[in-house]
Amino acid sequence: MIVEQVDLIHQLGLIVGTSRCIDYREQGAPANIYRDARAITGCVMPADIASVQKIIEFANHYSMPLYPLSRGKNYGLGCRLPVEQNNLIVDLKDIDHIRDYNDEAGTVTIGAGVSQKQLADYLVHQGARYRLNVTGSSEDSSVVGNALERGVAHYGCRVNEVIAMQVILGNGDTLQCGGPGGLGEPSWNSYAYALGPDLKGLFFQSAFGIVVEITLKLTPIAGPVQVASIEKKTTVPLAQWVDTLADLRYRNLLPDNLHIANPARRMSVVAPLIARYEQKGIQDISQSDLDRFCQFSATSSLNLDARLVDSYKTVITETLAPVANVHFADAESIRASRDVITCATRGVFEHAQGIPSDDALYSLGYEQQQLLDPKDLSASNVGTFFLVPVIPFTGADVDTLITIVNQRFEPQGFTPFITFNFIEHFNLEVVINLTYSTDDMGRVEQAKSVMLDTFEALNRQGYLPQRLSVFQSPVFGGYHPQYLSAVTAIKRQFDPNGIIAPGKYGL
Ligand SMILES: Cc1cc2nc3c(=O)[nH]c(=O)nc-3n(C[C@H](O)[C@H](O)[C@H](O)COP(=O)(O)OP(=O)(O)OC[C@H]3O[C@@H](n4cnc5c(N)ncnc54)[C@H](O)[C@@H]3O)c2cc1C
Repeated sequence: MIVEQVDLIHQLGLIVGTSRCIDYREQGAPANIYRDARAITGCVMPADIASVQKIIEFANHYSMPLYPLSRGKNYGLGCRLPVEQNNLIVDLKDIDHIRDYNDEAGTVTIGAGVSQKQLADYLVHQGARYRLNVTGSSEDSSVVGNALERGVAHYGCRVNEVIAMQVILGNGDTLQCGGPGGLGEPSWNSYAYALGPDLKGLFFQSAFGIVVEITLKLTPIAGPVQVASIEKKTTVPLAQWVDTLADLRYRNLLPDNLHIANPARRMSVVAPLIARYEQKGIQDISQSDLDRFCQFSATSSLNLDARLVDSYKTVITETLAPVANVHFADAESIRASRDVITCATRGVFEHAQGIPSDDALYSLGYEQQQLLDPKDLSASNVGTFFLVPVIPFTGADVDTLITIVNQRFEPQGFTPFITFNFIEHFNLEVVINLTYSTDDMGRVEQAKSVMLDTFEALNRQGYLPQRLSVFQSPVFGGYHPQYLSAVTAIKRQFDPNGIIAPGKYGL
């Protein structure tokens, strides 16, 4: 049947419920923070896993490309935009069941649409011995979509927390992978490997199917969390400070949840929160408050048995004394503090306790001096693009990266907001973003071009991306040809008509 001859969305509505389908060809797609004019066919919001299977069957029949979203909060990396034109968005937000919480093993099974807040609240309600490892990306962002993109949360990469997953492949088959097979074994939901090849790795950063459910390992609550703030001393070179942190981490004396921020990132997070707390404009914040953030700073959370905490604190403070000013805070001291900055930034500290918030999102409005609505970013006139390269955890590499970024951002008048997150095998995931006003299309184009130029320069330096935005997927050429032919063969097997997220990650 020829696609144009049938009212596809209407037909789909008969299958999954008319109220669950939106036809963007009639209504026009919602605005986005990139002012991107990409055509999107529509949006379907399945109520259950069986409906996802029906949608995939339908899409295969009509060769209709699908773009799955768990919550669609992929800010800076594309938000709700598919990679290519004329996709139908499959919004999984209503597949939000939470089941089989195991308070001994610290595991839980969740639907793709479960938000950070839903799961965090559920755990509090259960009086759980475990907490969610939360990202800074809003209460409403997903756990599943974030994990599938290899998102990095407060206590590290979520990919390591996925024990099992259920996927509806592009060919319509259901695949249960990870875990010992679900045959009733005592370890069925806590042991991440079945016999034989571990297939779940195929579904991270790929486009082979729609993941409808995952079983997740949670973070144990070892004791009251202490958060170390490690600020670089003014006279110490950045590379020396970074190398001292790396050495401490290498010797396992600093927890691996290390997050480093450049001064612009720190100010962008703190200033809007102070403005909200004091009910004034961002431009009215006192310079002396802002001056407190003019150095690079790192945080790391000690989630340890109380008997170990003092030893760690002593080692960290003494070792870092020549290069950093170190302070520790716990939930109690933060609650009791009257300091304006501490009060305003409580939400950010709470990430260490597994409590998600929208607080980091306000940072996007800092440069435009706007207190934007974190529940609806596209209602503001602020946009952002992200770059996420990986670099070795050395002072020299941090310096090199910053030089590459500054050489491209500064001449165009863009401020680089940069975070460095420790990830596996002694690497840093670097999150670089800029912001712009979406009122000025020229500036949007300039931002796009600066980001692309920086993306290419970082790739040439060998700082390859840890994840790709929907804008970078089509232009990234760094795959090895043999790798590309192997994943293309798997794609053909799992998704023969190429209906799942075409163009994503080279597929
Ligand atoms: C201020 C700020 C702070 C941020 N902090 C963090 C952070 O700390 N850590 C971090 O990792 N990111 C962060 N982000 C980036 C981003 O917002 C998050 O990664 C967010 O979790 C992504 O949105 P989502 O979870 O709703 O996923 P979605 O937008 O739903 O999906 C993300 C991607 O995964 C694919 N996908 C989603 N669900 C499925 C599925 N079920 N099956 C197959 N494919 C699927 C989608 O096609 C899409 O490409 C931040 C962004 C901002 C602006």
